[in-house]
Amino acid sequence: MKKIAVFTSGGDAPGMNACIRAVVRTALHYGIEVIGIKRGYQGMIDGDFVKMEAHSVSGIIHLGGTILRSARCKDFHTPEGRRQAYEQLKKEHIDKIVVIGGDGSFRGALVFMSEYPDISMVGCAGTIDNDLFGTDYTIGYDTAINTAMNAIDNIKDTANAHDRLFFVEVMGRDAGFIALPAAIATGAEAVLIPESKTSIDDLVSTLEKGYQNKKNSSIVVVAEGDDVGGAFKIAEEVKKRSFERWEIKVTILGHIQRGGRPTCLERVRASRVGMVAVKALLEGRNAVMIGEVNSQITYTPFEKATKHHMDINPMLLEMVEILS
Ligand code: ADP
Repeated sequence: MKKIAVFTSGGDAPGMNACIRAVVRTALHYGIEVIGIKRGYQGMIDGDFVKMEAHSVSGIIHLGGTILRSARCKDFHTPEGRRQAYEQLKKEHIDKIVVIGGDGSFRGALVFMSEYPDISMVGCAGTIDNDLFGTDYTIGYDTAINTAMNAIDNIKDTANAHDRLFFVEVMGRDAGFIALPAAIATGAEAVLIPESKTSIDDLVSTLEKGYQNKKNSSIVVVAEGDDVGGAFKIAEEVKKRSFERWEIKVTILGHIQRGGRPTCLERVRASRVGMVAVKALLEGRNAVMIGEVNSQITYTPFEKATKHHMDINPMLLEMVEILS
């Protein structure tokens, strides 16, 4: 193996830079040339390639975002777009690639490799959502939950000062992987997630119980994909029940959860899977996602990583109920 390429794709996540750095430095360590593909699959189609040297990845391990940039690329969904991408890769003599992205990026890789079997790709799970089967942690998740926790801590201070009830919306269209740890770590009174059915009446009773127990403010963490709706909708429903113990406020954390300096564990894990990805290509592995389960490296076929669903740990929900 003389040459590999690396790119970041789909939703960006803190820690992607640490992963890129590890891929580049590991490849150079083994005497392999590295090409960075800019802007995900779009850059592959456009031939937006850049040669990566050791210094190309200096001073980036602590930065959020991705120096290679990212994109959602419509053209890669078409056979013509993928043909163009293939031709660009062939022109550069690239047939081994590390993709850092989420389930969409791995699905794209699967389609591409089924059409062009001479291309090998391995993946590093880069998404703040932690929703990929076959790994305990995805790159970006640890930073995102810490960002959410710090933001909710700040909100808690002001909620307490003014006797307020805050509904704080965190990311999670399909899952409560961010909402649950953020709620536990901030001592939130309740957490509403897509995986469990939300009852506004139960929520109001929980809040009322807190009031009776002399709480002078409350925090409810809402995953954006909750079955009743986002934080504004939930707040509206609670108001309809004439719950007037505290003034009601809503905060949507939004994109601050995507950026920021990756945590220590994030940098270490991202570096580890990046290094292993290059070794995996050297070992001839293909169409697998590098993950970490119980601190051990795992290789999960893209097929499985994207199809299977990760379940939440019900004990985390119980913790919010008992401890708040
Ligand atoms: P993520 O990787 O974060 O889940 P997306 O779902 O946006 O992000 O996927 C990233 C990109 O992967 C898409 O913009 C598209 O270019 C490509 N992709 C996703 N699914 C497919 C597919 N079924 N066929 C071809 N390309 C795909």
